[in-house]
Amino acid sequence: MGRTVLHSIADRVARRARSGEPGVRLASLLRLVDHMPVAVMTVDPGSLEISYLNEACRRTFADVALAVPVPLDALVGTPVDMLLGRDPDQLRRLLAGSGTLPERSRQRFGERTLEAVVWRLDGLEDAAPTGVLLWQDVSTEIEAATRAGRLARQDGLTGLLNRDAFRERLDVVLAGPDAAACLLYVDLDGFKTVNDVHGHLVGDMLIRQAATRLRDAADRAEGTVGRVGADEFVVLLPHGDLDRAAAVADGIVSRLGLPYRLGTERHARVSASVGIAHAPAHGTDAETLVARADMAQYAAKEAGKGSVRVFAGWMEEQVRERVRLEAALRRAIEHEEGLFVFYQPIVDIETGTVTGREALARWHDPSHGWVPPGQFVPVAEESGLIEALGRLVLRRACQDAAGWADEARVAVNVSAEQLGHGTLVEAVLSALTASGLAPARLELEVTETALLPVDAAASVAELTYLREAGVRVALDDFGTGYSSLAHLRAFPFDKIKIDGSFVREAVERSDSAAVVRAVAELGRRLEVTTVAEGVETQDQLDRVRAEGCVEVQGYFYGRPVPSDRDAAVVAGLG
Ligand code: C2E
Ligand code: MG
Ligand code: MG
Repeated sequence: MGRTVLHSIADRVARRARSGEPGVRLASLLRLVDHMPVAVMTVDPGSLEISYLNEACRRTFADVALAVPVPLDALVGTPVDMLLGRDPDQLRRLLAGSGTLPERSRQRFGERTLEAVVWRLDGLEDAAPTGVLLWQDVSTEIEAATRAGRLARQDGLTGLLNRDAFRERLDVVLAGPDAAACLLYVDLDGFKTVNDVHGHLVGDMLIRQAATRLRDAADRAEGTVGRVGADEFVVLLPHGDLDRAAAVADGIVSRLGLPYRLGTERHARVSASVGIAHAPAHGTDAETLVARADMAQYAAKEAGKGSVRVFAGWMEEQVRERVRLEAALRRAIEHEEGLFVFYQPIVDIETGTVTGREALARWHDPSHGWVPPGQFVPVAEESGLIEALGRLVLRRACQDAAGWADEARVAVNVSAEQLGHGTLVEAVLSALTASGLAPARLELEVTETALLPVDAAASVAELTYLREAGVRVALDDFGTGYSSLAHLRAFPFDKIKIDGSFVREAVERSDSAAVVRAVAELGRRLEVTTVAEGVETQDQLDRVRAEGCVEVQGYFYGRPVPSDRDAAVVAGLG
């Protein structure tokens, strides 16, 4: 803008000059700009004295009058370098023509910042060259730019450094010659459930409070905090002392473990797992250090909620092993090699007849041997392989069950990860069609997590559709998860399976027996079959019968075994 205005001034001056009016002087020509909305000031290029200000310029300086070193009335005649805060000689040289113009120059006046565009006007017939300065208050612009810069570096929810900004900070710290630092990777345990059950707004509230607690803890240790994931934070400590870092980590675990007040009525608890890595021993670059602190955090989580772990070499090996396991599982699923489905009977507690069999996936890998489902199912879930694995189990289970002489039902486990993506209905229907199995003979077992959040509409819709098609749906492992009666209302289950942990404890512990009894009673009221899982002994069987369970499943009646077709192959694998 400055450039255009100045050009137009120069143009007018030049036109007037060309028009040949006698005695036209620059000062009188510049009166043209007296009422222009742009702040114009002229200076003598030699003395640098201000020779003229227009109205707008007066107003601009009136706004910052308190911070201007001379009274407003005395501005004309004052050397302009006093306003510009620049070396007068340099300014003189600039106005004399040795330098590229226009040049911008910023100067703070108290809270405000003014910018001058310095220009030189010459080539007039009888006038000496004149310095022209166009002033503008650029404070708002600067504030906005600073704010944008800050926003780009800040996590919007918590105001902590975001991932990129934290990473930059870490890079700077690690770049020093004797760089030493401790990095804490903090992950909240149980946050996902709070988020799923209460919704994102409440989840956000919790994250903000956790961030405040974390910042307090870090401040005392002169640490810097960043947020690097939904419920993942990093703390950078300016020293490499592991003992001190562990003490900070313990403090963080206890602070983050205190209850959170979420709105007026609601409270929630989560815990934190912390992994620690330090430079230079565990890494001298940001990427390695963060990755290793994260691995240590993973190990802390495995060690149990609220733990702290320092990075060790075996953790890296564990991660590599997991990567290898995932690759092997991918191959096994692709080639349908080494994957089997075993069946375990589910028995009517009164008559002893087998009413159904639960299909349980089994995997034998050439280099890992038999991998338990408790290990490979989570790998499949986290890597997205569960979809293909689920299809494979469904297809084989329906096929095998179609050949059973006793026409018992087959129960297939469906992971929460398989629900809500619009793929389950097709997978189930195609398994039924291919095998010719009647839908009523297929039972899907889902755990409560499949129904989280409570309004998991897509998941409920899929299960509802299948149930209307005649497929039965069971709630698996009841009592272990979030165990909310809301889930029993959210979906009309055909069966509730009471988790084996209660069944095994029911003989010795009255509270576990009470849980079994309460669920059995609930089942009777809701007209839902209750199954006691994990029955291993006569005592346990007697107990769950006394508490009112309708069916039982467990080693007492039979372990999971391969289908007749697979039996020989499985025996060969040992
Ligand atoms: P689940 O669905 O609760 O399956 C019951 C688990 O209890 C099975 O473990 C079974 O072998 C075990 N079990 C049965 N009776 C007894 C007993 O008397 N005592 C003891 N100690 N255990 C007993 P498994 O086969 O290791 O499976 C573990 C979990 O892996 C299953 O728990 C299920 O959640 C998951 N899983 C297994 N196959 C599949 C599958 O094809 N798809 C999915 N999504 N998950 C599966
Ligand atoms: Mg099950
Ligand atoms: Mg179960």
